[in-house]
Amino acid sequence: MMRRPHIIAIPYPAQGHVIPLMELCLCLVKHGCKVTFVNSHFNHNRIIKSMSEADNAINLVSVPDGLVVEEDRNDLKKLTEALFEVVPGKLEALIHNINESDKNRVSCVIADESLGWALDLAKKLGLQRVAFWPAAAASLSMMFNVQKLVDDGVVGKNGEILRKPSIKLLPLMPAMNTTDLVWNCFSDPGLQRLIFDLAIKNNESVKAAEWIICNSSQVMEYDVFASYPKLIPIGPLLASNRLGKTSGHFWREDTDCLKWLDQQPLNSVIYVAFGSHTIFDMAEFQELALGLELTNRPFLWVVRQGFIEGAGTPYPEGFIDRTRNCGRLVEWAPQQEVLAHPSLGCFLSHCGWNSTIEGVSNGLPFLCWPYFADQPFNKSYICDVWKIGLGFDRNENGVIGRQEIKNKVEQLFGDETFKTRAVDLQGEVLSCVKSGGSSNRNFNSFVNWIKGTD
Ligand code: UDP
Repeated sequence: MMRRPHIIAIPYPAQGHVIPLMELCLCLVKHGCKVTFVNSHFNHNRIIKSMSEADNAINLVSVPDGLVVEEDRNDLKKLTEALFEVVPGKLEALIHNINESDKNRVSCVIADESLGWALDLAKKLGLQRVAFWPAAAASLSMMFNVQKLVDDGVVGKNGEILRKPSIKLLPLMPAMNTTDLVWNCFSDPGLQRLIFDLAIKNNESVKAAEWIICNSSQVMEYDVFASYPKLIPIGPLLASNRLGKTSGHFWREDTDCLKWLDQQPLNSVIYVAFGSHTIFDMAEFQELALGLELTNRPFLWVVRQGFIEGAGTPYPEGFIDRTRNCGRLVEWAPQQEVLAHPSLGCFLSHCGWNSTIEGVSNGLPFLCWPYFADQPFNKSYICDVWKIGLGFDRNENGVIGRQEIKNKVEQLFGDETFKTRAVDLQGEVLSCVKSGGSSNRNFNSFVNWIKGTD
């Protein structure tokens, strides 16, 4: 009898890492693999609270993240340090316990690429090793070049910027500001250093990975995949690929907004969402609200708990009443279903990679409002490479003003070429996951390797 592979999957403990890894695991379950998915206790509890009963095709387990319950998981320095100290030992013990109690012993570890230590552990235990990168291949290739940036004198040996305002790895890749290199997004020098050191360390660990798979598609980043053949695109990993709903949400989805979308005209709604991390200050928040109002178009806006610095959600006076008929506010949307809705006209996004690939897969034009990490780079792809969106310009106070928002909305809706290019890209991207497409072929080879039938 053929053995049933037993996979341990471990994400970095953030929403944008958990959802796509879970998407991947659900695909693997569909192909006959057993998956044990390891969240931190903290995230596990949130996921269990937010999920519907139908969502349990994979075995969800948890380990501590090294912080006590009350500690702030947005403090990335503390979280990352605690994680590296505590989780490796816990993961090893978990694998040991599974192997003691389950006939179906663990055969493979799929770890988020940023958890290189999990790959080291898998190697030590003699297991198959897979690194999963939930973002653009372009941003991973940038991380792979950290040592080269040091050698070329672009950054110092602690990651500090030494020269060149912008860098370009490949001819067709957009230029990137050195201030946008991921560790430089943080103001705390200790955190900068920590992230930089981890990048160097991960680059070593990932050498032990037998596969490095990406939630991306060859047609979105052709030149990157051509230059880094070890990176294998298998995306987009959308729930619709397995005819289901997304799983792994930290907040409960407000599905009522889908009924509201049903009542809106075709291609009319501006969907506004900034992912799971972005925090706005009061001035930006108020300008965004007033800008949406000024557009005179229907909008669906995700205003997550904790979205604004400080307490509460200080909408401009009278905003809620004035926009009652055209605007809908939710705390967390079923985003993939929203993006697939025919009433959507465009996606005003922070350009997190999951949002980017989800919007692209639905043929939507973008308005780009990047916040940090890989988002400015993703924005460059959206606006300059694929030409399916527009960015906003900041005023002399560094704020994106209401009039700028209105103007860009009009420009995007007024020029059909954005939509035409978005629909063309959607067609190309979706054909990659159809039978015989490049992502589909890669995924099938990957599954055969996991099963030992390649
Ligand atoms: N998301 C969602 N509902 C929302 C906002 C976001 O389901 O209201 C999902 C979205 O579909 C995506 C993930 O959360 O899969 C956010 O990931 P992304 O990489 O876009 O941003 P991050 O949260 O990492 O900044």
